[in-house]
Amino acid sequence: WAKAEGRGRWAVYDPERSARDIARSALAAKLPAALDRGEFVLRYQPIVSLLEGRMLAVEALVRWQHPELGLLGPDRFIGLAEETGLIVRLGEWVLRQACHDAEQWRRRFPDARLVVSVNLAARQADDPTIVDTVADVLASSGLPAELLQLELTESAVMGTAGEPLRALHQLAALGVRLAIDDFGTGYSNLAYLRRLPIHCLKLAGPFVEGIRGEDAVTVADHRDERIVDALVRLAHALELWVTAEAVETGVQAERLRALRCDTGQGRLFGAPVPADRIAARLAGTEAA
Ligand code: C2E
Ligand code: MG
Ligand code: MG
Ligand code: MG
Repeated sequence: WAKAEGRGRWAVYDPERSARDIARSALAAKLPAALDRGEFVLRYQPIVSLLEGRMLAVEALVRWQHPELGLLGPDRFIGLAEETGLIVRLGEWVLRQACHDAEQWRRRFPDARLVVSVNLAARQADDPTIVDTVADVLASSGLPAELLQLELTESAVMGTAGEPLRALHQLAALGVRLAIDDFGTGYSNLAYLRRLPIHCLKLAGPFVEGIRGEDAVTVADHRDERIVDALVRLAHALELWVTAEAVETGVQAERLRALRCDTGQGRLFGAPVPADRIAARLAGTEAA
């Protein structure tokens, strides 16, 4: 037994858990130097129109090219970066790199009007410098504001005070698009939602996963499809775009199209890839 978290609270000592905690803090300690050494890289995943199949946007997804551990996904380090506060600096790097890459695509393929979508952590969105940072990144990259979308989760949108962030209106005033990420998994206050300057809802993967079309067997399968139906109608009533995350099968894409979902993202339409692969895809579309 070990005494934990102050007076009167006891926790079972778990050697596996403390080994994991040590590994976590070792990784956390390496994050700032890794950022300075340029060990973070971006992958971009297509977001595709379900009606025409055209790539309308890409989501920037960060990875850590760790010298010993290989390419690490964000689930290994984003949480750590949020806990240590490094997320503000890491997030700014992601934003700069993504806007830089998007401006290169725009110069080569102006007609594609490809939007780049960047995740904002709660701590970043809550940071008093966020509006200036975004404005500065747009100015120095040259990317038009309407080609940048920022993704925030429901809890990030609501901020720590339980009120929607004031920064959202200032960000929207810059002309950037705002999307709610993983929509449906958090606590969404619809009364607030309708007053927010948002442009897009991204339906969380688990709802999409439950869409099985003709193969729907369980009550839960049918329920997921009805939830997606309801969320798409809600989004459209609020004049928002809807993107379905984690689209993996043709059946899911077909059902989502039938439910009037606007865009889809997931393995079916392409895995996250380096920037040059996005350029190659744009070049292919132009040639066709
Ligand atoms: P997210 O923003 O919801 O991103 C979508 C995740 O779904 C990505 O995971 C993507 O690789 C994964 N995915 C893609 N296709 C499929 C599919 O067909 N099926 C399923 N089930 N999943 C698919 P990833 O890249 O591991 O990123 C995980 C999360 O890490 C992201 O979830 C986002 O919340 C966070 N993240 C990634 N990059 C950043 C960043 O630059 N800043 C911040 N703050 N968070 C980031
Ligand atoms: Mg996202
Ligand atoms: Mg998401
Ligand atoms: Mg997420």
